[in-house]
Amino acid sequence: MDETRSIARVTAGQDVVDGAGVKIHRIIGTGKLNHIDPFVLLDEIKSADPEDYIAGFPTHPHRGIETITYMKRGNFRHKDSRGGGGLLTAGCVQWMTAGRGILHSEMPESADGLLWGYQLWLSLPAKLKMTEPAYQHLSPDMIPGVRGEGVSVKVISGTYKGVSGPAKNLVAADYFEVTVDEGSVFRHTLAGAMSSFVYAHTGTLTVDPEGAAQKVAERSLAELAGGTTVAVSGDSSGASFLFLASYPNNEPIARGGPFVMNTEEEIRQAFADYRSGKLG
Ligand code: FE
Repeated sequence: MDETRSIARVTAGQDVVDGAGVKIHRIIGTGKLNHIDPFVLLDEIKSADPEDYIAGFPTHPHRGIETITYMKRGNFRHKDSRGGGGLLTAGCVQWMTAGRGILHSEMPESADGLLWGYQLWLSLPAKLKMTEPAYQHLSPDMIPGVRGEGVSVKVISGTYKGVSGPAKNLVAADYFEVTVDEGSVFRHTLAGAMSSFVYAHTGTLTVDPEGAAQKVAERSLAELAGGTTVAVSGDSSGASFLFLASYPNNEPIARGGPFVMNTEEEIRQAFADYRSGKLG
């Protein structure tokens, strides 16, 4: 049965301060929305005031997750303890597998103008939490765009209409940025077992426009459930959103700052390894 997904819940993000004093709009990883398994964090930075972001994210560790950063405007400089590094400019994606441990810094480089980007955390399943760390820099020319019938899709990860994104995945995940013209509908088929959500970053959306026609306000996230087809339209031309889908781990989630593991004991071990210099 090819049923269309409807909205399980809609959540607005909340403003938080993280890193060395960066103002963030946190969408997943809050008291209102802890996670959409396996996605345990989604942050939006969008500000034209350098005071909001220039302090950046000096050296810090991660374990147990992949951190996926998508820059829309402005520049971010990345450096990590394994010699990885690079400048993320507009349109770049950094797909970092923290695995058993990595130290990195993420610092904005432009001191003026709009900084706009997203960081998503994908919690690795228990069997991959201690995998070898890795770093993929995906430049804009590597990220295919698919355009047709008033819908354009940037395919960062996964496959849309037979076009695959450049990310080499440990865990299958669709990560698309979709822009729709008024009256056009984005359609995508996914496995019934996958979790999925849309985040409306520009304009208002309608989920399942030919059916339940539920609205998603700008800067809100809608978790989608209950079928194998996704259909989303925009209420005005240029409405744009992030679409994410992946398989839930269905495992306990233990969080400790930059670490996401399965048990509190593993979190204590991560902090102990960090203190003794074994991480990264
Ligand atoms: Fe980080």
